[in-house]
Amino acid sequence: MGSISMPEKPHAVCIPYPAQGHINPMLKLAKLLHHRGFHITFVNTEFNHKRLLKSRGPDSLNGLPSFQFKTIPDGLPPSDIDATQDIPSLCKSTSSYCIGPFKELLARINDEAKSSSQIPPVSCIVSDGVMSFTVEAAEELGVPEILFWTTSACGFLGYMHYRQLIEKGLIPLKDESDLTNGYLEQKLDCIPGMKDIRLRDLPSFLRTTNPDEYMIEFVLQETGRAKKASAIVLNTYEKLEPDTLSALSSILPPVYSIGPLHFLQERVNDESLALLGSNLWKEETECLDWLDTKDPNSVVYVNFGSITVMTPDQLVEFAWGLGNSEQTFLWVIRPDLVSGDSAILPPDFLEETKERSLLCNWCPQEKVLKHPAVGGFLTHSGWNSTLESISFGKPMVCWPFFAEQQTNCWFSCTQWGIGMEIDPNVKRNEVESLVRELMVGEKGKEMKKNALEWKRKADEAVNGSSESNLEKVIEVLLQSK
Ligand code: UDP
Repeated sequence: MGSISMPEKPHAVCIPYPAQGHINPMLKLAKLLHHRGFHITFVNTEFNHKRLLKSRGPDSLNGLPSFQFKTIPDGLPPSDIDATQDIPSLCKSTSSYCIGPFKELLARINDEAKSSSQIPPVSCIVSDGVMSFTVEAAEELGVPEILFWTTSACGFLGYMHYRQLIEKGLIPLKDESDLTNGYLEQKLDCIPGMKDIRLRDLPSFLRTTNPDEYMIEFVLQETGRAKKASAIVLNTYEKLEPDTLSALSSILPPVYSIGPLHFLQERVNDESLALLGSNLWKEETECLDWLDTKDPNSVVYVNFGSITVMTPDQLVEFAWGLGNSEQTFLWVIRPDLVSGDSAILPPDFLEETKERSLLCNWCPQEKVLKHPAVGGFLTHSGWNSTLESISFGKPMVCWPFFAEQQTNCWFSCTQWGIGMEIDPNVKRNEVESLVRELMVGEKGKEMKKNALEWKRKADEAVNGSSESNLEKVIEVLLQSK
């Protein structure tokens, strides 16, 4: 009897950009693909691998025979610090250095595959949108590659328009004074799906007078290569961003929105996979017990994500704003949140608020946002945080820091009706009044209603457009080139 040859398992190599807000959604997508029968190799940088081992222990990276973690160096000088790396330096080094180690890793995996029945050869690449050097590796291997932009559709569309803004002579800025003289307030009508957006609401790397600014070059390079992908994937959903998604679809390879990924991923009911985590800081879960003791919608949750850095003065303004708002709050102060020395909060503030506050270093954010006690979110408008907040029906006060957070903030405040923006030059009075409005004001109630409506639509997407888009993504990944 002739032997029956089994079709080979597909093998996806998933490579996130090495920062928290990118690793999280990529791990979720990788788990979903594994659930759908893919063998997975998940590629972290050596730096982050070490941090993950420290924050989560070896179990989080042991993987399974069919879900393996591998590492490549990031090209930056070795360091043992437990903090976010400098983003422009990391962009520069990943885009110029990582292609060699990445190709070598792929070759090693394919060599192993020859002698192991456990490891199928690499059949597709799932790469972060801003690690697009990987496209070259996929072309060489002759396998499909999808680029996963972990931004919002609106943020991505903002980046896609940088070239046009340069051609129009709008950026880079002509003079330093353009940062403060109202130049950034001008409204633009050249970006479809973003009528009347101001220059200041577009991704922040354009705020420069330097014609050779590396981050502009980086954006042009990464958005240019997006056109070479087999498909683009975004962690958003159609009803939330219909116009910007269709604008992207008209200029790029097929664009699939498959979010919110944290909802889709809830279907993966596998205990061993559940152990695989991606938090670079150790999660402090005590805050969940504390939230259990609070009334529904009574706590403001404050967190500025993994990259935001503020001055000691800004920290103090936030502290007194929260203190004077008289609201109960959970404030996550990342150890490297404050520039220079570690965060120092005024003793009077600590004394005054001790009965109605909890401070911690890092929390399981999705669980916190899901918690019924949390009534609103003071956020930096990072895309993951924004989408998590939307999908759990929580309105926001926004203090965007950089990148496309400004665009997410503009959409949250003016298009989705679920946010209020704090001035970049943060002052305690404004924090106090916006936080109070968020929690007990009329506008806060209206925003809460809108947020619940967006949550309902997110729930629908999970069993509708996002689910069927994920099927299409899988089809693309299964195509041989
Ligand atoms: N996060 C978390 N605990 C924290 C702070 C953040 O788990 O204390 C997670 C959060 O749920 C989100 C990610 O880290 O998934 C941050 O990504 P985001 O895009 O919001 O912001 P970034 O860190 O990239 O600025």
